Order: sequence, then structure tokens, then C-alpha cells
Amino acid sequence: MEQAFVALKERLAQVEDLRAAADVLEWDQETYMPPGAGAARAAQIATVRRLAHERFTDEAVGALLEKLAPAVEDRDPLSFEASLVRVARRDYEQATKLSVDLVGALAEAVSLAKEAWKEAKETNAFPVFAPHLQRLVELNVEKAEALGYADRRYDALLDQYEPGLKTAEVERVFQDLAKKLVPIVHAVAAHEPPDDSFLHQPFSEEKQWAFGVSVIQDFGYDFERGRQDRSLHPFSTAFAISDVRITTRIKAEFLNTALFGTLHEAGHALYEQGIDPELERTPLADGTSLAMHESQSRLWEILVGRSRPFWQHYYPRLQATFPTQLSGVSLEAFYRAVNKVQPSLIRVEADGLTYNLHIMLRFDIEQALIEGRVGVNDLPDLWNETMHEYLGLRPATDTEGVLQDIHWSLGAFGYFPTYALGNLISAQLFEKIRADLPDLDQEISRGRFAPLLHWLRTHVHQYGRKLTATEILERTTGEGLTAEPWLAFVREKYGVSMSN
Ligand code: ZN
Repeated sequence: MEQAFVALKERLAQVEDLRAAADVLEWDQETYMPPGAGAARAAQIATVRRLAHERFTDEAVGALLEKLAPAVEDRDPLSFEASLVRVARRDYEQATKLSVDLVGALAEAVSLAKEAWKEAKETNAFPVFAPHLQRLVELNVEKAEALGYADRRYDALLDQYEPGLKTAEVERVFQDLAKKLVPIVHAVAAHEPPDDSFLHQPFSEEKQWAFGVSVIQDFGYDFERGRQDRSLHPFSTAFAISDVRITTRIKAEFLNTALFGTLHEAGHALYEQGIDPELERTPLADGTSLAMHESQSRLWEILVGRSRPFWQHYYPRLQATFPTQLSGVSLEAFYRAVNKVQPSLIRVEADGLTYNLHIMLRFDIEQALIEGRVGVNDLPDLWNETMHEYLGLRPATDTEGVLQDIHWSLGAFGYFPTYALGNLISAQLFEKIRADLPDLDQEISRGRFAPLLHWLRTHVHQYGRKLTATEILERTTGEGLTAEPWLAFVREKYGVSMSN
């Protein structure tokens, strides 16, 4: 047992190193790489990912896992040994279903598609992106067929990001949510929207950057083990528990983009920085699912970062940073402005209430693509129609329509629903945190986040992938996935009575 376990650990560590190397190449592609390097970088990333895949799917790994599986059966399921064997085994089973050729083809297609998407988005030219998207849909259909599924082809893709979750379950939760959310949106929209014109003024980019950095340092983001850079689409990425990076995007004449984008990505990064260091260089050193990951980013961005106690503490500092722009704006007016509800075209700038509708639109469309009910060339019109149906808006360009998100250029089908599920989980966890930490609002209003971060580290972060999202929810809240705490949160926030 001992010798086999050491051999497995060493093999998995090498795989993690190769994956981290590919992640660094991708991070550089999004931040500093010159635009002409796209094709060369695509080949480099494909080679490193192929090596990682080959090293991991080697029969020797399978043999070690077979040998170790019975040996760890009587161990505590949360022990390092039992967790590593269990999670590596699941990954191995998934990975060995995909051929080396398919993995390599996907990596190369993604790298080329990302560059084409950037150009298409910048020049509002969907046809530049369309052939790449077509290729990615075909490869993902191939992937879903190789992974296998019992019911829906989309299940196989969803399962990669949210282990065990089924398309039908997402449909059930989303349909329930839509039914209850639409009346709330209507009730809120019936009132005069707050004035937020003061958020749309010139704000020094350097000061925006510095303010965001000061807040996330207060949150507990560790710059000794991380850094922030700029990119077209903000993201967080972890090369190790000791190297968790974020990116942000700054708009010179709109305060919210960099501010809340930074808090959001820091929420993701706090999760990764909080994983037990014992799990370093193993597949356990990662967020347990995308929905759990997104619950962390939304918790810091919305439940904390758009709350009244938060701005009681930070608004004077923000006013001092931007006296010309904000000196005549009261705390209450500012609070209402950053919580303004208004149907909008861009998901990453959507308010906390209508955000889930943006996700449902993407879920509908990508399912239809993968299951062959629509073609790539139908997308711009289908997008605009569905956008109109859900949010009453019609994009004037594809840049602010179907081209706005990076995800499909990454070949990430099955990813979008996890955003909305993350919202729901964030509210489920926060309800429990409030019960456990009665002074939470007071602490936040003093800029003290240590008790909150400690709770998250203790109940969520430290475990990495040792516990599934469902297990974390059940251990902390005593129940599975439900929309009720999130609905209660938005009803309270927007003053909508329960009788609606
Ligand atoms: Zn996120």
C-alpha cells in the first residue's frame, strides 16, 4: 500500500505540474502575449496538454488505482489517502474515455478559436468566429459521445463541471426559479430606477485599480501567493495553492466594471488560496465544482460587496478617492445605485437580480447546439430573439450579443448553468453563516472579514475536492440545492413582499 501510494502521488504530481505549465501558457496568452503569437501558442499548449493527458491516462496509473482502491476502503473518506484515490479514480475513468487525438484536437481548436473570437468581438464580425465555433461544437459532440450519458447528450458535458448534476435537474431548478423570479423583476421594475449617472463618469484607472486592490487585501487575498493583471475578460487561475492569480478589466468611465469584477475574481481566488496546503500537487487541490467556485465569487461580490454594511465602511474611502465624482452623492444614493436593477445586454455587467436570466438564455442555446436542434449560423438571430423574450432587449451588434462571452471559444459547453447555481449556493451558505456569526454585519461594517473568511476556510475551502458540492451543502446547511434562500435574499433586498 505504502509504496504504491507514493508511486501514485509522484505520478499525479507530474501530471499536475504539466497542467500548471499549460495554465501558465494560457494565462500569458490572455495577458501579455503579442497578438501574432496565436498559432505558435496554440501548438505549445496542445503539446503540453497532450503530455499531461498521456501521463495521466497511462495504464500504470490505472494499475496503481486498482491496487489502492480496496486498500483505502476502510480509511476515513476524508483522509488524504482515501480522497486522493477516490478523486483520481473518477478523473481517470473520465479521461481514459477520451482519445489522445481528441484531447489534442480540442486544445488546438480552442487556442485558434480564442484568437478568432477576440478578433470577431473587436470588429463585430460573427463570420470570423463561426467556423471555429462549428469545429468546437463538433468536437464537443464527439466528446459527449465518448464520455457517455444515460439520458441527454448535454449531461455528459455538464458532468465535467458539476459532477453528478443532470440536465433535467437544472431545467427543473431553472423553471422553478424563472416562475418566481419574473414577478420579482416586474415588481422591482415597476418602481422608478435609482439614479446611477454618477457611476458613469471618468474615473482614474490607476485609482480604480488601487481601490480594488485595497479591498481584496482586506478580504484576505494574499498577494504573496497571487497577483492581478489586466485582460479582455476577467478570470482567476491557480498554478498552485501558492500561486493563485486574478485579472481585471477597467473601464475609464464606469466604476462598476473593475470594482465588482475585482471582488468577484478575488472570491474565486480566496477559495483556491484556502485549500489545505497538504493537497498541493495533487488533483484534490482545486475547487470541488464550478457552481461551488461561483458561489464563492458571488458571495464576496454580491452578498458582501453590494451590501449596506460593506459600503458603510468603504464609501467614505471611495469618496475620498474620487472626491470630484462622488462628494455630492450620499451613501444611500450610492448603495441604491450599485444595486440598481435594469435589464441589460451584457452578462458580466448584469445586476444581481436579472443575472440568472442571462444564464438561462445561454443554457437554452448551448443545449440546443450540442443536441443538434440549431446550427451555428442560427446563433446571432436566436440569441437576439431569446434576449428579447427574457429581458425585453435586442442587441444592436453581435459584439454585445452572441460574441460577448469567451466561454464557447474555450469549448466550455455545460459551464454556463453553474453560474446561476453558484448564486443559489452562495445564498444557501450565507444564510447558514449569518446564523453561525450573529455579528457578521457589524464586522463587515468595520471592514473586518476574518470571521467570514475563517468560516469559509473551515467549511468549504480547505477540503478542495475531498467533498463534493452536494456534500458541503448537506454538511453545512442540512439540505441539497434549493433556490429558496436566494429568492428570500432578493425579496428582502429589493423590498418585495413574500405574498408575491
Ligand atoms: Zn466567476
